[in-house]
Amino acid sequence: MSELEDKIIQLKKQKNALILAHFYQTLDIQNIADHVGDSFELAKYAQKATQAVIVLCGVTFMAESAKILNPDKTVLLPVPDAGCPMADMVTPEDVKALKEQYPDAAVMCYINSSAAVKAECDICCTSSSAVKIAKVLPQKQIIFVPDQNLGAYVASQVPEKEFILFHGFCPTHHRVSVEDVMCAKAAYPDAMVLIHPECTTAVLRQADYIGSTSGIIKQVEQSDQKAFIIGTELGVAERLRQLYPEKQIHLLTDKLICPNMKKTHLRDVFSSLENNVYEIKLSQNEMEGAKKSLERMINV
Ligand code: SF4
Repeated sequence: MSELEDKIIQLKKQKNALILAHFYQTLDIQNIADHVGDSFELAKYAQKATQAVIVLCGVTFMAESAKILNPDKTVLLPVPDAGCPMADMVTPEDVKALKEQYPDAAVMCYINSSAAVKAECDICCTSSSAVKIAKVLPQKQIIFVPDQNLGAYVASQVPEKEFILFHGFCPTHHRVSVEDVMCAKAAYPDAMVLIHPECTTAVLRQADYIGSTSGIIKQVEQSDQKAFIIGTELGVAERLRQLYPEKQIHLLTDKLICPNMKKTHLRDVFSSLENNVYEIKLSQNEMEGAKKSLERMINV
């Protein structure tokens, strides 16, 4: 362990802090975290946290979700401009306009959205829970924001419902092309292809398995296959290489790097703990509205 990593662990104890890291963070951040997970798992860890401070190594909407689910804690985001471009594509006004247009529809929002957007929605979902949630909603029509690709995937799995999709997308997953998959398959013909549903429908058609980050990790853990092509962010491939050194892990394409997820460095985590920055603050309205959507998701 480096001197800086040592200092972070010491400071974490002194400040009674919990460090949570998303799977898309760099491996050094994942290695100093108390828990590493996808958005859904991080929300659950945050909800149960007993420490006074939660340091969320990820992007803004994740830190907001932690604050909403455990409002008495101080929630810190080490880099204030680590945002999610997809979350920024939809506004509360967009959701209000859709609700007016489709008054009988349920509004489902991907957790990758701002607290203000969540407050306008009926229920949140993650990529691991979206299909299940769409199935249990009583409404026949579902407005899905902001990810058109995840929305299209959920619609394909729940054909009995009618989906109204917003036009947002994750720039990192959306830019993967069918040609990228073909190249990876040609290079590693025996590998199993695992792809995240934030990729386009055409790309998903090339997959052997479609699932969330946690789903992909579980698939590698449980499969007898030796080689895998990973169709999600680099951090997942790096974690898999660390966890399963006996398996061959290939990133589908080097386009799969989220610049925002890579903004957090160890020195930012140290500074966050030392200076108590950058604290997440939300209005009462946003907290209360978004809490309902998030808790409904966790309860399903
Ligand atoms: S990978 Fe995509 S969805 Fe995730 S934080 Fe980056 S831009 Fe947002």
